[in-house]
Amino acid sequence: MKAKKYFLRLFLVILGYSLTCSAFTAQASSEELTAEEQLLKGIHSISSHKLFAYVKELAAEKYAGRLTGTKEYNTCVDWIASLLKKWGIAPAGNNGTYVQAFPNPYTLVFEGCEVYIHLPYQDSVIKKRYQYEDDFIPGSTSGSGEATAKVIYVGYGITAPELGYDDYKGVDVKGKIVLMEREAPVSPNDDQELFMKWRPYSFHQYKLENAVAHGAKGMLYNYGPIANPNNSYREDFIYSHVGKVVVSDVFSGTGYEHQAVVEKIKETLAPNSFSTGKVFTIKNHTEHHPDGIGYNVLGLLEGSDPKLKDEVIVFGGHLDHLGRCYELMPGANDNASGVSVILGVAEAMADRDLKPRRSVLFLFFGAEEQGVVGSEYYLEHPSFPLEKTVAFINLDGVGCGDKLRALAAKNYPALWRFIDKANQKFIHRMIEATHFANLARPRLDAARFMWKGIPTISFSASGAPSYYHITKDNIDTITPEILEDLAQLLFVALLHMANQDSVDFR
Ligand SMILES: [Zn+2]
Repeated sequence: MKAKKYFLRLFLVILGYSLTCSAFTAQASSEELTAEEQLLKGIHSISSHKLFAYVKELAAEKYAGRLTGTKEYNTCVDWIASLLKKWGIAPAGNNGTYVQAFPNPYTLVFEGCEVYIHLPYQDSVIKKRYQYEDDFIPGSTSGSGEATAKVIYVGYGITAPELGYDDYKGVDVKGKIVLMEREAPVSPNDDQELFMKWRPYSFHQYKLENAVAHGAKGMLYNYGPIANPNNSYREDFIYSHVGKVVVSDVFSGTGYEHQAVVEKIKETLAPNSFSTGKVFTIKNHTEHHPDGIGYNVLGLLEGSDPKLKDEVIVFGGHLDHLGRCYELMPGANDNASGVSVILGVAEAMADRDLKPRRSVLFLFFGAEEQGVVGSEYYLEHPSFPLEKTVAFINLDGVGCGDKLRALAAKNYPALWRFIDKANQKFIHRMIEATHFANLARPRLDAARFMWKGIPTISFSASGAPSYYHITKDNIDTITPEILEDLAQLLFVALLHMANQDSVDFR
């Protein structure tokens, strides 16, 4: 790493010197730079402190956690568009703007959310209140109000007649609170073929709707506790995401041990639901906005080659995060980090003298966190025909650690080669290239593109603690150097890709 920086610096000292000298004799012009010199100039224009400052800006209080639909998210969209404009990157959204709008209901979560258990004590009842974030995080799309009821354990909350499986058989959940596991008892890692049968039942939305259909009025969802705004909204259904402490209190004294029950369901694929006898209160303060509007931000660097400019490389990542739930969720790693790297590359690529031959579309998605909606909408309404989209590079969570992971690199070896080559020549980071089976829910914008047959690689970082969907995903966890290396790497790789006579990664 040190050697790379040293040579870069040396090169720029010499470059600077020669430009200063030539200024005396002729007009110093960057047109005198060779392609290699242009490339190095671009690499060096990307700095860790600039990228770190972008993350800091995006994670700041003023954007309120960038929940798509909110006015703070829209302010953030305007800021991104203003940068693209400043760099001379053309608008590629609706009607000559930088944005593409799509319907996006959203729910705000306010202070005053609680979870507590009612414990009989002598002749009265005491309330044991749980800790926000350690023990529970309110459901991001919960109804507003309070549910107090007995808790029924319903395993995975699945009713699948064709699989001979019903978690609600033999228990009455009408007017009750259900305690439910996430996912399905079969995982795609264990048995892909079997998982595909269970897949429709693994979605949060299905599980919530099925609880509502069975008459439950609330849910303790064994999920983290982390925030996640991609569930259904039902006005009268109050739910919270809970962790170990709450689950163990619900199971305490029932004669069942939680882990053993879950293992048994997975092993036998037979439900194990029961009334726990515990009484809980879930109290949430939320406000639902069914008519919310989401935005993607799109900026186009049109190719300089009259023919190749009809082909596009899409470089993107999601701009949104979780908003407040009810504390601020800054989303520094998820995905302010990715956005900062895209901005860094966009600015470097927009250098007037660089003129990539193919077009490059910089794409910032909305509502990834609300069901990977923005990228889905883009693919239904693309700025370029999808068959002319030669590749998609996605970034999600690239800010924590010293290693990189290139998801789906093994699915698209020809695309991966460009990036690997750039890494070996300039950056020298550890990059783990993986295969992506992509069977479960779409959890990444990259999945949407792959399902449309577009060669895709999605980057994330690893090697340091990162905090997923909680308040601690803040600026303090960000490693500035990994942002710089990834931006420089992708600047080189994208430029090479854009300038090839022909590419076919499919
Ligand atoms: Zn996320």
